[in-house]
Amino acid sequence: MALATMGEIVGPARAAGRGVGAFNVIGIEHAEAIVAGAEAADAPVVLQISENCATWHGALEPIARACLAVARAAAVPVAVHLDHASGAELVRAASAFGLGSVMYDASRLPYADNVRATAEVAAWCHDRGVWVEAELGEVGGKDGVHSPVARTDPDQAAGFVASTGVDALAVAVGSSHAMLTKDAVLDLGLIARLRQAAGVPLVLHGSSGVPDDDLAAAVRAGLTKINIATQLNKVFTAAVRDYLSAEPAVVDPRRYGSAGRDAVAPEVARLLGVLEGGAGEPLSPVERAARAAGLAGSAPGGGRGQGAERVRGHHPP
Ligand SMILES: [Zn+2]
Repeated sequence: MALATMGEIVGPARAAGRGVGAFNVIGIEHAEAIVAGAEAADAPVVLQISENCATWHGALEPIARACLAVARAAAVPVAVHLDHASGAELVRAASAFGLGSVMYDASRLPYADNVRATAEVAAWCHDRGVWVEAELGEVGGKDGVHSPVARTDPDQAAGFVASTGVDALAVAVGSSHAMLTKDAVLDLGLIARLRQAAGVPLVLHGSSGVPDDDLAAAVRAGLTKINIATQLNKVFTAAVRDYLSAEPAVVDPRRYGSAGRDAVAPEVARLLGVLEGGAGEPLSPVERAARAAGLAGSAPGGGRGQGAERVRGHHPP
């Protein structure tokens, strides 16, 4: 039983300067692969279901309940999150189905309207113990057009968090949704200023376009929840394509579905290693034991504790 709240995962990670991987689910096999990867990395993880995903399934409930069931059976803490809800109705549905965390995205609205709508949703959610992420600065790419020039202003971020009471803030710092190339350039100085100003965990959307080293640097600079969707889709689809090219007579979806699922799990484990500040490889059992015992040094200068500050063992079951 490893269903965790978002706060239980993100809170200790932020305090310790670690990143949390939040991976978008498409079908149940993605949820299975993401959790398998997190178990291999011995790291907590977030399964997230976007409004677009719920629309694709025709409803939120079946995929939400599937993700919750996969989470409950996991050997690591797993939170299930509604990603990019554009309406309060879907937020209410998510809460009704047992999702303890939502992103309400009114970033397309003018600032004052974004504040008003988000504050309303946040108050409703907090009355029910639901964790709320909002967005300020409109990260580009959801319309298919990359607009990595959007930037969240730190002073406005501070005002937005104070006015809305949100638990986390998605910020525009140079990434863009749905990128197939890894050439986004993040503004690390802005991330550091936003971390100081916002006072809540910061979320990066559009991470698939960011090179691994830059993702690790962005976590060190102050980002906590790192949303990753397109990268897993690339890996899943490439594996399925390769399999079907090699085995054109196959008709059983479990055969090529397995190829996709088996490719996603190690990619999740690898990315969780990146977000931990590693070199892109999951920690070995020896490294993990050494870090847990506080024998390994912290990263120089970054205040990114990886020894005694590691609090993974303290996550509630
Ligand atoms: Zn997003």
